[in-house]
Amino acid sequence: MSLSDKISARVQAVPRSGIREFFELVLAAGDVISLGVGEPDFCSPWHIREAAIFSLEKGQTSYTSNLGLLELRKSIAKYVAAKFHVQYQPTTEVLVTVGVSEALDLAFRALLNPGEEVIYHEPCYVSYNPSIYMAYGTPVTVETKIEDDFALRASDVEKAITPKTKIIMLNFPTNPTGGVQPKAELEGIADLAKQHDLIVITDEIYSELLYDDREHHSIAALPGMKERTILMHGFSKAFAMTGFRLGYACSPPELTEAMMKVHQYSMLCAPITAQIAAVEALENGAGPVEKMRKAYWHRRNLVVSELNAAGLSCFQPGGAFYAFPEIRSTGLSSREFAQRLLEEEKVAVVPGTAFGTAGEGFVRCCYATDDQNLATALGRIKAFAGRHRVS
Ligand code: PLP
Repeated sequence: MSLSDKISARVQAVPRSGIREFFELVLAAGDVISLGVGEPDFCSPWHIREAAIFSLEKGQTSYTSNLGLLELRKSIAKYVAAKFHVQYQPTTEVLVTVGVSEALDLAFRALLNPGEEVIYHEPCYVSYNPSIYMAYGTPVTVETKIEDDFALRASDVEKAITPKTKIIMLNFPTNPTGGVQPKAELEGIADLAKQHDLIVITDEIYSELLYDDREHHSIAALPGMKERTILMHGFSKAFAMTGFRLGYACSPPELTEAMMKVHQYSMLCAPITAQIAAVEALENGAGPVEKMRKAYWHRRNLVVSELNAAGLSCFQPGGAFYAFPEIRSTGLSSREFAQRLLEEEKVAVVPGTAFGTAGEGFVRCCYATDDQNLATALGRIKAFAGRHRVS
């Protein structure tokens, strides 16, 4: 009996994440400075950890409502109203999930019939394509380009719309480019969604991490959009809570109910300890978030100027904690660059192609790592780029 033959055709067809695959090489190389995984180097702020510990001491170890603790849903609604200027009802329009990862899976499974299309921009987070595909949807990509500062043009989205399009998926600031979306293009996309009666999913996971006094605009806040948008957010990045595995989706009651059904039968609820910690994060976490944001901002400035000085032309990202330098001056492909940098200099970056074919010619450097490591890694990248420069 071949067990591989027993795996569903769809799961067989999905490749492993390009990031994870590359990181097996990193582990094998040993003693490497990693600018690879997109995870804050900061530990979750102490007051958040303390709230989690205290809840355990008090014996709060039960299931919660499928939607999540009402206290947390109220805090989420308050936070989202203040930050994104959209009002959601905690009782019917907020669903607490196991990270944005689960929220994405729930939304695609709740909404898609086989063959319906989801338009999203590429280079993008590695999960979008497989999550859509495993929910029997059809992924449709629109390329964002360096000459547009990796913003998504509404006119490009319009060209990708077909009678099968059901969802437009957005992520700004973007993983892996750090690109942000100008309000005018967001308005253009909102008009298209209304005109073609489409649902919009907006992944706002990096929205606190904006630089140079930029203001964040969520498509959910534009006129006529709340009623067709699922706003997703979580605690992993800005609050440095990746291991708590907590996120949420805010959407009209019908969509929340549909996602809740999938969540109820697959996850039941998010862990109570993480939910209690998240209330603390939302109610009292602004100070630590701002401190971390400032640290990322300093690092962004350093990374971008050093990469440019190394001859790796680097766009100035407006948000998130990634730099996405162009590596064409070395004549290497993204994968070759990452592999050889690892072998020759023991520095790990992620090939741009892990984020879709539009990422060829680029690598992603995550600067959520401590200043000393970052300085050493940049020195090594400079030496490597100098040795391999062909143009
Ligand atoms: N969305 C984007 C754009 C991400 O970059 C990530 C993680 O890297 C996620 C979602 C997953 O977030 P979570 O930890 O909340 O599942």
